[in-house]
Amino acid sequence: MKCPICKHGDTMTGTASITLEKNAATLVFKGVPAQICNNCGEEYFTDNITQSIMKQAELAIAQGVQIDVRQYRAA
Ligand SMILES: [Zn+2]
Repeated sequence: MKCPICKHGDTMTGTASITLEKNAATLVFKGVPAQICNNCGEEYFTDNITQSIMKQAELAIAQGVQIDVRQYRAA
């Protein structure tokens, strides 16, 4: 797709990292499937992936995780 941010680049399939900070916890998900703009580098994630990340983050925080770096796994 055309990048809606810079309006010049095209997005390419790739992977990116997402960092979530919630309360005192910091969670980093690596290798998350994304569409990445080849011009400005903006990363786009599908709703499914965002929701899955949120769910995994809530679970980790509920388990008392304060800082964690993990590989993204599809739900
Ligand atoms: Zn762009």
